[in-house]
Amino acid sequence: MASSMTDRYLENNKQYATGQALHKPTHPGKQPIQPSKRVAVLACMDARLDVEDLLGLQTGDAHIIRNAGGVVSDDAIRCLIISHHLLNTNEIILIHHTRCGMLAFTDDLLKAGLEGDPAAEKLLGQATGRAFTSCKTSSATPLAFHAFRGQIERLDAPRDAKNMERLTWDVRRGMSSILNHPWIPTSGADAVTVRGFIYDVDTGKLEEVAHPGPMGSIG
Ligand SMILES: [Zn+2]
Repeated sequence: MASSMTDRYLENNKQYATGQALHKPTHPGKQPIQPSKRVAVLACMDARLDVEDLLGLQTGDAHIIRNAGGVVSDDAIRCLIISHHLLNTNEIILIHHTRCGMLAFTDDLLKAGLEGDPAAEKLLGQATGRAFTSCKTSSATPLAFHAFRGQIERLDAPRDAKNMERLTWDVRRGMSSILNHPWIPTSGADAVTVRGFIYDVDTGKLEEVAHPGPMGSIG
């Protein structure tokens, strides 16, 4: 079933992609603490995503949760539970994007590089175009970096069928993680809806990811 605010923001996004500015940057005055449009957005931290602008959000409309990849991490789940149960949001919008840096490494590769493996340092340097400088030490945290599943590619590679598939897989994994969390209700009077998208940083357009569907292979 379509969620009304999400659909409205998708219409805003079409206008954003054609050059129209809908987000008002000025302070709106006193507002309630609950997001007025009852929306929570989880998006990648990428510098090219301006979430307020690309959805046409106004101040006070929505919670915006961001991390590397727009990954449904423990902390993202913590935020979504607080957002819904304490602050009354009931639509979740998950946003990944083309050219995401999370396509350019694996968790094992980054950890090995940080710990001082010369081969990993070299590969990370090649992938990013930045001299990777190892810390040559180990750490128990973070437990995971949540790089996307599949064969890595160079940083900022243009959109193609393979990296779109990898992005689609991860959006679905994220949606599945949210929809199956025991503290996020998805049926009954208190239900939350979850919809997932890939934002094309070259065009400014959001594209919806169907769910359920394949979530990736190790091949
Ligand atoms: Zn990203």
